[in-house]
Amino acid sequence: MQSVYINEEKQVYPIIFEMNYGQLRSINCYLYKHGSKLTLIDAGVDIPEYRLFFEAQLAAYGFQIGDIDQILLTHHHEDHIGLVNYIIEQNPIPVYAHPLALPRLDFTEEYQIQKKTFFSQLYRQYGCEEIAQKRLLKMQQTMENSEHLKIKTTITALHHDDMLDDLQVIAVPGHSPDSIMFYDQQTKWLFVGDLVMYKGTTNAIIDHNEEGQLLPTVMQYRNSLELCLKYDVSTVFSGHQQVFSNLHEIIQKNLSRIEYKLNRVTKKVIEGNETILQLASAIYGERMNKEMTLILSEIIGYTMYAEMMGEVKRVQKEMGWHFYR
Ligand SMILES: [Zn+2]
Repeated sequence: MQSVYINEEKQVYPIIFEMNYGQLRSINCYLYKHGSKLTLIDAGVDIPEYRLFFEAQLAAYGFQIGDIDQILLTHHHEDHIGLVNYIIEQNPIPVYAHPLALPRLDFTEEYQIQKKTFFSQLYRQYGCEEIAQKRLLKMQQTMENSEHLKIKTTITALHHDDMLDDLQVIAVPGHSPDSIMFYDQQTKWLFVGDLVMYKGTTNAIIDHNEEGQLLPTVMQYRNSLELCLKYDVSTVFSGHQQVFSNLHEIIQKNLSRIEYKLNRVTKKVIEGNETILQLASAIYGERMNKEMTLILSEIIGYTMYAEMMGEVKRVQKEMGWHFYR
């Protein structure tokens, strides 16, 4: 059994499932108990091993699924929403998430078409349509088989500064547009989702807004990290890796990492790499083949950030955007 965090009438029961999920070591969700009210923050990934682990962990803590009163989601990614349907089938409780998570979790046709249009245009504009074909095909397949992924309840929207029980909702876009964290001011506990992780992994993933336009995800991510520094925090409950307390130190590491990646992309532009594909292979070489989606996401994100910071200029050419100092 994992250790329980206790502060007067409040407790946190971590459910930390260790596995190699990309580079991420573990998939975490948390039970937050305040008096008799039990809240599940995030809901793991939908694989049989996880389900078994979740149930066993719940039982070890003396709970069952029927005891959970509500589910809060830090964002819409599949490793945070996995067991929502499984839980609400047995126990129809309210589920809460950021407004931008709603179309993403409903898999509305409108949203899916927007997403597909956005990514195919984006890859074309950045001259990497050909290499991104596989990703687009996979997206199409997911769209066609999305029925089982849909969250089968009406999700209630949570806005920045809303209070739910003793938890303050704080919008922290960057990792995803719908990222929120939950802060308990009394205990100084922070449920941070994937904004900050112990190992300092930075992960601003490109995405679009409601109008279908590319979001400045790296800038958003940096702003969210800086916002996070303003809260007095004793313990950080993260979506992956271990629970920790040295939030400021880790955020500083993250901010330096962003600075490093900005400088790296700028340097490669100065060295004469003009396109996204040239930049991606100059920085990542062979890894491009294996981690294409994430790498394109990162290079597109950082060239946009470099442009916003006045480090590079973007010029439209026949085969897509080119970058210059
Ligand atoms: Zn995650």
